[in-house]
Amino acid sequence: MLLQTNPYLYQGHSDIYSVTSHVMLTGRGANKFAESIGITMVPTDKLVTEYERKEWEKHKKYIAGVNEEFNTQAHDTVGAVALDSAGNVACATSTGGIRNKMLGRVGDSPVIGCGGYADNISGAVSCTGHGESILKVTLARLILSHVEQGKSVEDASQLSLQHMGDRVQGAGGAIVVSPSGQWAAAFTTKRMAWAAAEDDVLWFGIDPKEKLKEKLSL
Ligand code: ASP
Repeated sequence: MLLQTNPYLYQGHSDIYSVTSHVMLTGRGANKFAESIGITMVPTDKLVTEYERKEWEKHKKYIAGVNEEFNTQAHDTVGAVALDSAGNVACATSTGGIRNKMLGRVGDSPVIGCGGYADNISGAVSCTGHGESILKVTLARLILSHVEQGKSVEDASQLSLQHMGDRVQGAGGAIVVSPSGQWAAAFTTKRMAWAAAEDDVLWFGIDPKEKLKEKLSL
């Protein structure tokens, strides 16, 4: 869970958990903090769909390593990057992770610099793909390092994904936006569903090299 560090945002909450300069909380502490700022809590059961339960029952018989799972299963990671009119960028990454993972497995998605990163100087990135590989190369930060060294967001994404493939044999994808509004959606997986809204145009695709567009009626 990423936190807003501005204490004034939570003015009015007296609980000590409502004001913090920490940037990441996990487990019980994160829950307690969320509750203290008024986020509705739901029982864990509500987050498990019947479809997912059946899929898990089906696949747990063929327990495979994370690599095999990643290559054979569909994934549910959803990511977003955004740029506002004042030049602020932001990223968000949410995932159910990967099936048949070990208890305690942490993927790339919540780890700053791996599943996502945002900096008003270089841009915002959100990643998907084989979490263990993304963690090993700190993919989101790697992409922005290339941008800081002068690469376009497209080249920076391609180079970094290529590096992840060469160095740790992992596939993945990333969406990126720069503070000047350049954006890219790149992947080395077989497919990645993506969409981008730019002025009154919606860009979208799913297969490699696919880039379709539609005019938005605003
Ligand atoms: N990156 C996620 C994970 O490894 C999976 C995904 O992107 O679908 O947990």
